[in-house]
Amino acid sequence: MSKPLYVILDNGHGQETPGKRSPVWPDGTQLFEYEFNRAIVNRVALGLTKAGIKVTRLVPELHDVSITERIIRANNIITAANRDGFQCLLVSVHANAGGGTGFEVLTSVGKTRSDELAEIFYQLAETVYLKNFPMRRDVLDGDSDKETNSVSILPKTNCPAVLTENLFMDTRKDCQLLMSDFGRDMIAEMHVKAIEEYARRYAGFNQ
Ligand SMILES: [Zn+2]
Repeated sequence: MSKPLYVILDNGHGQETPGKRSPVWPDGTQLFEYEFNRAIVNRVALGLTKAGIKVTRLVPELHDVSITERIIRANNIITAANRDGFQCLLVSVHANAGGGTGFEVLTSVGKTRSDELAEIFYQLAETVYLKNFPMRRDVLDGDSDKETNSVSILPKTNCPAVLTENLFMDTRKDCQLLMSDFGRDMIAEMHVKAIEEYARRYAGFNQ
């Protein structure tokens, strides 16, 4: 029987991380990525718990926890969870920047199961949740706007891992959705549905 799933949610940057924010829009609003990432991660944690999937947040605090520390934390959680009979999955939630638009998923290289989860995400985004935005699929080769520090959490954690870049906070149309409760609920639901489908395929759903 396949092992039950233990999901580790990472919300990346902290309150004081430099950059990582939208411009101030003409109506005076501004998005801070740390706040958006946490809003999504908290919703996803709630949704997964309701679905009976075990979940933990890697960075419960508001301040910035370095990538090195996050990797150590993640691998400690993974070691303990494996010992307790779980298989782990790490999902890192972000908003993109650099003047583009759309949704993309980065995966840990050479881990086929993270590729599977990425495909599930793209399919849900394209057909249901982010139909009005482009899907960015070719980002691992030379796209300069990816966040290399955050990406390093992918190959260095000892479990399948994906990083979602949920639209662009410095593009007005994208950012409006990211600032709305409607958009946040939708993006969070997409993460819950994608992880549920992954659990169905690889962990057996009744845990
Ligand atoms: Zn980010």
